Amino acid sequence: MLSLPDEFMPACESTAVPEAPGWWFAFAGSTLLVHTATGGGTVELPHGAVWPFAEQPPLRCLFLGILNGQPCHAVELAEAPPPAGLSCIGLRELWGRLDEARLGIAGQALQLIEWDRSHGFCGRCGTPTQRRADERARHCATCGLTAYPRLSPVVMVRVLREDGRILLARAPRFAPGVYSVLAGFVEAGETLEQAIHREVAEEVGIQVRNLRYFASQSWPFPHSLMIAFSADYAGGELCVDGHEIVDAGWFSAADLPGLPSPMSMAWRLIQDFVTQEH
Ligand SMILES: [Zn+2]
Repeated sequence: MLSLPDEFMPACESTAVPEAPGWWFAFAGSTLLVHTATGGGTVELPHGAVWPFAEQPPLRCLFLGILNGQPCHAVELAEAPPPAGLSCIGLRELWGRLDEARLGIAGQALQLIEWDRSHGFCGRCGTPTQRRADERARHCATCGLTAYPRLSPVVMVRVLREDGRILLARAPRFAPGVYSVLAGFVEAGETLEQAIHREVAEEVGIQVRNLRYFASQSWPFPHSLMIAFSADYAGGELCVDGHEIVDAGWFSAADLPGLPSPMSMAWRLIQDFVTQEH
């Protein structure tokens, strides 16, 4: 599960005490700088009161908040060979290797670096923007526009038939043999429920009913919020669109295909189905 830990207190720079030794979430592109010499495949973040690698000065630094009394910093690095004893590893590959609390904060760090980098100029008038001290935002002094970190809501739905089978579908981008639940971006003006009905009809040609909220999860690739539901099959024959979905079928818990990463909300939804069926 990728989420901010309960013990983390998000804060902007103005409200925190950054002098204490803290954790450095340093990204080169979408890879995180970690110590890999900790043994057993686990990794650890750089730690210190100041950025520990003077030879690699940050391109950008954002204060994130406090974890158990220790400040957390997000840093953007130029793509260059990492310091000795460290590696740059993608967040997905760090699942199970970096502890869950820091993995969740790393997801926030990655999103905020990307947002800060992409909003250096006002989207309305082109003037350079400034970070606000009182909230996570960038402000344009010329036209007054304020830009906040962007989130793109994605609905995800697990469809069940009365015979206990689940609908799983395959997108062309998935690893070979992997199937998952349906998902799609919420469009402007839609409710979450409308987005589900539209996506399911567009992608596999069926109708669903009885939507039940399941859970949500941050998905920082690059800035999604996954909102998961269960639903019941209501009618229609499976007919894939051949574009976003290339194959779909009904599967029993005892006969599942390859599944997405255990880090994902889709895996949780499917795992919950398996648990209920046994
Ligand atoms: Zn402006």
